[in-house]
Amino acid sequence: MSQQTVLVINCGSSSLKFSLINPTNGEVSISGIAERLASPEAFIKISFNNEKSVIALSAPFDHQIALQYLVEFLNKHDLTKQVSAIGHRVVHGGESYSQPTLINSDVKNSIASLAQLAPLHNPVNLIGIEAAEQAFPELKQVAVFDTAFHQSMPEKAFIYGIPYQLYKEQGIRKYGFHGTSHYFVATQAAKALDKPLAEFSGITAHLGNGCSICAIDNGESVDTSMGLTPLAGVVMGTRSGDIDPSIIFHLINQLGYSADEVDTLLNKQSGLLGISQMSNDCRTIEDAIINDNNVQANLTMDIFCYRIAKTIASYMAAISHFDALVFTGGIGENSDLIRERVGRSLALLNIKIDADKNSAVRFGKAGSIHEQGSQACLVIPTNEELVIAMQTQQLIEQGE
Ligand code: ADP
Repeated sequence: MSQQTVLVINCGSSSLKFSLINPTNGEVSISGIAERLASPEAFIKISFNNEKSVIALSAPFDHQIALQYLVEFLNKHDLTKQVSAIGHRVVHGGESYSQPTLINSDVKNSIASLAQLAPLHNPVNLIGIEAAEQAFPELKQVAVFDTAFHQSMPEKAFIYGIPYQLYKEQGIRKYGFHGTSHYFVATQAAKALDKPLAEFSGITAHLGNGCSICAIDNGESVDTSMGLTPLAGVVMGTRSGDIDPSIIFHLINQLGYSADEVDTLLNKQSGLLGISQMSNDCRTIEDAIINDNNVQANLTMDIFCYRIAKTIASYMAAISHFDALVFTGGIGENSDLIRERVGRSLALLNIKIDADKNSAVRFGKAGSIHEQGSQACLVIPTNEELVIAMQTQQLIEQGE
């Protein structure tokens, strides 16, 4: 019997990531990425059976063409019949979507109208959905929203200290992102601690190019560090995280920046890159600390880790009990140096990282890294694609 798989699609403005996943056992049969879309250099990279094929795309070099190549590849390898549904990562679901949702024209219209809140993401997510509808007209499609898991936050956590009508009339509030990842690692942490998710409380730190921290109380997100947009919260690769909002007026009124220039400064030129003046990549900054004792790199890391630790400590106000601190994302899964520095600032909460365990849990491994007698600290590799595949399959089965 052939195994049913879900095609998971994650669209960026010039890229389309995909993987074909068996939602029951997590096996990935095909994965890849189309990159440089919208340019004549567009290509698609497909990994299948431990082999990588790189194929140049033809005009008009768009998401649609990329999916046509994927369909041809699936047909050639007799895999098309195994695809049971398509799951899309959609960044912003606003207040309308707290659950995965079967896509129809109303859902597409709301994803389009939410582009007001996520202009860089929702329009390209919609392009991916429409391209997939054309490439696989007979398959059901499901949207899994990055904001959905955080819809359980109470008002006290998501309302900003600005006039309330801006929330009521314009939807300006904290939404939070990385929800699929926070949900996944929370479920894995609960399993590791041998309790149901509904009884798990703790703090999850997704640290990648984008970074966010989430307070989880009895299985639900009750606060998170990103906000109306993914710019808020802790310091990230190129994003500033929280700053005094008056800096923006100072930049515009005193220093002559345009609003677009401020946007670029805070989203693309700040964070690790802006402070270190070296790189947004954590590995480069770590190398500069370890090999050159570079003072600016060391300061950058201190700021990065202190802000993460401060956010974690503040979330003790949001949860009813504390089962574990969980690290995930490219940095959280790999950087023992950052985990150690974050842990060092949390000693008063009885969070103590064991040096040997910490250096052993890297490169895709999961495990605990705390000292005996300390609160639990876990490293859990995230798998957003698997969650999207599982939730897509569940929804399709419910509708049958
Ligand atoms: P994205 O948010 O784009 O999905 P990732 O979760 O892949 O990003 O994380 C990217 C970050 O992970 C980069 O800052 C990179 O430096 C960091 N990273 C990856 N591997 C390591 C490593 N071995 N040590 C330290 N940092 C790492």
